[in-house]
Amino acid sequence: MSNDIFRKGAAWIKGEIVPIDQATIGVTDWAVTHSDVTYDVVPVWDGAFFRLNDYLDRFEASMQAYRMDVGMDRAEMTSALHDMVSRSGLKQAYVAMVAARGTPKVAGSRDPRDCQNHFFAWCVPYIHVVKPEVAEAGVSLYIPNNVHRIPDQSLNQRVKNYHWGDFTAALFQAKDHGYETALLTDGHGNLAEGPGFNVFAIFGNKVVTPKQHVLHGITRLTALELCREHGFKTEERALSLEEFLIADEVFLTSSGGGIFPVARVNNHHFSNGSAGPKATRLREAYYDMLAQSGLRSAISY
Ligand code: PLP
Repeated sequence: MSNDIFRKGAAWIKGEIVPIDQATIGVTDWAVTHSDVTYDVVPVWDGAFFRLNDYLDRFEASMQAYRMDVGMDRAEMTSALHDMVSRSGLKQAYVAMVAARGTPKVAGSRDPRDCQNHFFAWCVPYIHVVKPEVAEAGVSLYIPNNVHRIPDQSLNQRVKNYHWGDFTAALFQAKDHGYETALLTDGHGNLAEGPGFNVFAIFGNKVVTPKQHVLHGITRLTALELCREHGFKTEERALSLEEFLIADEVFLTSSGGGIFPVARVNNHHFSNGSAGPKATRLREAYYDMLAQSGLRSAISY
């Protein structure tokens, strides 16, 4: 049942569901002092989670990669998420689940094994990483030449993480130059990803998306499936900036809004500076799929 105290969102923390602005974690938690966190974000659309099991698979793999044990199993995390969204009353929501390293049980310890790992979650009204009206007109992207994505060799980017220093620096540059958002390369001439999204390029009936130094997004997976259904061949591989700039169309993917056609990258225009027709069709197909029951887990409110 909808409740006004949860209008801005709800959080599940230490077994309790509270209004989002009452949820806090300690200042000495390594989540805060070291960005020592992994997390995931699943969309809720028309009162149901979309692909919840795929997001939980990735979240569990991330916790394992970071050697975290939050002391909760899959069923417990699933019911925490259902209970929290149900209590919030939100039918369209952005739902985050977080595994934090915690604070060492031995004061002052620098040994990560001493930390008490913990789980919390929160949900807020649905967030679009790019506003729908901007996406429909085609997004503008800025690629800086002096900031690159932190490479997989330094930080496994398949583990969803809070190391956003590169993205934040790039976003400042993008905004300073009047662009909507930023896209990073790997520093060796290949594309990586942007703040909260993966990138794709369409060449005739072929679609290419970078494979390394990127999160393997769940929307990236959905887009690859949709592309194949729409008759495209798909390739996950290195995509150079040079090749990218001669693509017919370009689009982005994120759980925060699905598929976003791109109109401009630096001074280069795609689709005459508007949203391309193929990317627009894929965007519509994504929203149809969000509403498709097979991959949805209904929430009881
Ligand atoms: N890349 C990064 C760095 C992200 O943070 C995100 C999502 O927030 C994505 C890609 C897209 O992933 P997904 O489609 O699972 O939302």
